[in-house]
Amino acid sequence: MSSAPRPPSSSGIVDVLVPVALDQAYSYRVPRGLDLQPGDVVTVPLGAREVIGVVWAENTNPDPRLHNRLKDVGEKLDVPSLRQELRQLVDWVANYTLSARGMVMRMTLRMGEHLGPERMKLGVRLVGEAPKRMTSARVRVIEILRDGLLHGKSDAAREAGVSAGVIDGLVDEGTLAVEVMPPPLPPPPPDPSFVEPDFSPDQAVAAEAIRKLASTGAFQAALLDGVTGSGKTEVYFEAVAEIIKRGEQVLILMPEIALTGQFLDRFARRFGVRPMEWHSELTPRTRARNWAAIANGDAHVVVGARSALFLPYAKLGLIIIDEEHDQAYKQDEGAHYHARDMAVVRASIAGIPIVLASATPSVESEVNARKGRYQRIALPSRFGGQHMPQIEAIDLRREGPSRGRFIAPRLAEKIVHAIERKEQALLFLNRRGYAPLTLCRSCGHRFACTICDAWLVDHRFRKRLVCHHCGYSEPRPHQCPHCGAEESLAAIGPGVERLQEEAADLFPGARTMVLSSDLITSVESMRAELAEIAEGRVDVIIGTQLVAKGHNFPRLNLVGVIDADLGLGNGDPRAAERTFQMLNQVIGRAGREQGRGVGYLQTHQPEHPVMKALVANDREAFYDNEIESRERAGYPPFGRLAAMIISGGDRPTAEGFARKLAACAPVDERILVLGPAEAPLAVIKGRYRFRLLVKSARNVDLSRYLRDWLAHAPKTAGNLKLEVDVDPQSFL
Ligand code: ADP
Ligand code: ZN
Repeated sequence: MSSAPRPPSSSGIVDVLVPVALDQAYSYRVPRGLDLQPGDVVTVPLGAREVIGVVWAENTNPDPRLHNRLKDVGEKLDVPSLRQELRQLVDWVANYTLSARGMVMRMTLRMGEHLGPERMKLGVRLVGEAPKRMTSARVRVIEILRDGLLHGKSDAAREAGVSAGVIDGLVDEGTLAVEVMPPPLPPPPPDPSFVEPDFSPDQAVAAEAIRKLASTGAFQAALLDGVTGSGKTEVYFEAVAEIIKRGEQVLILMPEIALTGQFLDRFARRFGVRPMEWHSELTPRTRARNWAAIANGDAHVVVGARSALFLPYAKLGLIIIDEEHDQAYKQDEGAHYHARDMAVVRASIAGIPIVLASATPSVESEVNARKGRYQRIALPSRFGGQHMPQIEAIDLRREGPSRGRFIAPRLAEKIVHAIERKEQALLFLNRRGYAPLTLCRSCGHRFACTICDAWLVDHRFRKRLVCHHCGYSEPRPHQCPHCGAEESLAAIGPGVERLQEEAADLFPGARTMVLSSDLITSVESMRAELAEIAEGRVDVIIGTQLVAKGHNFPRLNLVGVIDADLGLGNGDPRAAERTFQMLNQVIGRAGREQGRGVGYLQTHQPEHPVMKALVANDREAFYDNEIESRERAGYPPFGRLAAMIISGGDRPTAEGFARKLAACAPVDERILVLGPAEAPLAVIKGRYRFRLLVKSARNVDLSRYLRDWLAHAPKTAGNLKLEVDVDPQSFL
């Protein structure tokens, strides 16, 4: 297709897509002697800048009058061309999500960073006498380089705890010599038969099915559906092995790459080497190197966050979406895309298989499996005969804790027993900080963000009151700013920090640890803390949703959910689904390796279908119920949704624009436009927000409807902003 030799561009003009918020490609002249094909990565002048762009099409029918006014392509970069299937994906995603095509393309090019050959890395080596004037910093550097080997210059400085200037000084003195570091070798390929597992009979059946899927080399989606601890990862590794043998690449998407330390090691135990990582925390040098390895095919298996979906794989053979139901796959800024859904699109365009894995599939995927659109590969039980945790509800109306306390007596008692047995317990509460609300006991003043419609959250570790929407924070005062009363502030409601205080009080001598995203300073520290838990150096773990995902804690047998109702009442059509998934997943952390896990749900509504399905361990009942109510209400996947979020610096302007926008919605009896309504988060960062919700039948091309609508709608001006969110996951 694109590899067939073609004559050089005949018109001498190409259309180049640049990585900025623009939909259309711009025409440029091709300098004589340069042969350009669609997909080639080039530099072009854009205004006063020179930017990287991609030849999107040859312009076969240019307007001859324009020719002399066009600018020339700068140069063609020495990197692999973007394959046709990737360009098609970019067009598809931009069209579907109504995002600017340039912004979608930008994700394929490492966000438009410089793509040329890697910068040389300099090293230093000890070659001469120690200088006359010695300092303790110099001594440390020389000590480190005493082995006579070449060390990275910045590595040596970091290791010795000195500035680069100290190293330069020693180079000037002739003590050290600078040399170019040899480029690192490409990673060795994973070995598909490094350590092959012994599968249980159930697993063997699933493994066979997934190997077969992987070897078809054609588009087919499968739902790998197995309870937590059933061995989904071991099983999909068989598909990975199959693709490695075929000499193709595998992409494994994870919802939260920062938490995959355990996963990388596990992969290495199965295949002998770690896979390549792709996420926002990589250093620029590593990003550059990994991008090149992905594009030239040296990277065999890539584990990445959602943005890894858009990379220019040389020969992608399989995509795996782990925890496919996870909300983190939806990007809600810039291009609003759902990486799981767009991954299915990529697989279908590329003609390759895709595996969606989950213990609690999204309702969308469950319906696809029930209708036979996705092949279901099921793992019905836990590996090694471990039972699923037994779940009990604790009715807070009847056996709740005393005022100002959040751990019910029955739960506290079970935790005491767990600690006595040297087992771990996890207290789950999806609320960061110490308390979600602070008020003054003498005047009733409540601390709120000055620029958002939100209460400030008390963070005691940081000694500040923080807005969770904009990040604004202020020191926690000793005096009420309103009435001046001293020591009058009261914390209302629990956060994980407050639970830790209560746990320390209830379980004296127990070692507690809080895991919450705001307390994590880096991926490394997170990985270290998780390792500490896995090694059993913590008795009671207190965590937000950060702990729910994918970790294996061998000694954890008890999970207590402090507020099981927290996610239910927020007007989100997926509230029940999310609560079910989250609670299932967090309780699924218990009893994975030894003993029988138990889960306790503290709830005010034990009769709610979600709580009942969890207690009865009846997943089908939950899906039956949820699918039926979605179908009745015409919600996804039985109908389609899109949201428009209008925001502006003042309320009347934002609301007025939202009304005008709604008023010019094209009439179509299959489509319902609801609103504008004030958004549940009515003000964020001083911007007033209104929402429109567009609801249609399943077979309507909603993107096209929205595009037609916007084409003749009033344009945003000044401070107004309009965001379009097709298939919204958040309704805030
Ligand atoms: P899931 O992804 O379904 O939650 P995992 O793949 O993480 O399950 O497996 C759960 C645990 O059981 C892991 O520690 C894994 O190493 C172990 N395990 C699963 N299958 C096997 C097997 N066939 N042989 C050895 N260990 C296994
Ligand atoms: Zn705020």
